[in-house]
Amino acid sequence: MLSVQNLTKSFGEQTVLNGVSLELTSGETTVILGPSGSGKSTLLRCFNLLEVPEAGVLDLAGDSVDFSSKLTDEQVRSIRKHSAMVFQNFNLFPHLTAVQNVALAPVLNGKVGKGAAHQYALELLDKVGLGDKASSYPDSLSGGQQQRVAIARALAVSPEYLLFDEPTSALDPELEAEVIRVLIDLAREKRSLVVVTHNMAFARRVADRIIFLDGGKVLYNGAPEPFFQSTNERIARFLQIFEMTDYRI
Ligand code: ADP
Ligand code: MG
Repeated sequence: MLSVQNLTKSFGEQTVLNGVSLELTSGETTVILGPSGSGKSTLLRCFNLLEVPEAGVLDLAGDSVDFSSKLTDEQVRSIRKHSAMVFQNFNLFPHLTAVQNVALAPVLNGKVGKGAAHQYALELLDKVGLGDKASSYPDSLSGGQQQRVAIARALAVSPEYLLFDEPTSALDPELEAEVIRVLIDLAREKRSLVVVTHNMAFARRVADRIIFLDGGKVLYNGAPEPFFQSTNERIARFLQIFEMTDYRI
């Protein structure tokens, strides 16, 4: 389970998250939608403490932190181990091959030996359709392939929650589709996914839950269908931008 209560985060004078409370069921796919600047990335980054809120409580897979007091290193470690993040721009290590990128974190955190980590990394690359690219360096891979390596890398640390921040926004439609297919596979396996995206087909067809943020507040938290038929003025205006989009996958 992932829950936050009354999360508040400011940058200088600007309040970016303004009392956000929500509870996500494990095994579900949650899609976070909202206009640019509404706080989507910041919220996602609070889940793994890349951003630390000023106030509120985070409960993640049995560990709980209250942001009104300073976190200890141990608390930060205990929260971070529950999730892995996939970024918009892949962020692979350019001097490492695909399989080395995937095996790196498990080797560094010392839980498995090098051989076992390498073997598991090969399996994960196979799972994302890149079994034949294990020895390739990132610059010889397409954006879609790089992002699939990044997903395999996130899976390698066996996180309870996978966090995706606009994982397809840097990709052409065809490459976007190959990444979305991997996300659909993970959703079908009942992984716990939290996905910030503008891909409305994915949101509508795959999400179990939609969160809509506006101005750092949760304006909608619930099932996809009612969201896409919402008569809320702000949500309807947001959805109008996508009305030319075909929602089929
Ligand atoms: P979204 O992902 O929905 O586009 P963000 O969470 O990235 O929104 O940003 C929300 C607001 O917070 C924006 O106005 C952004 O400029 C601001 N912001 C985000 N990160 C920082 C930062 N590190 N320093 C200052 N302002 C930031
Ligand atoms: Mg963002």
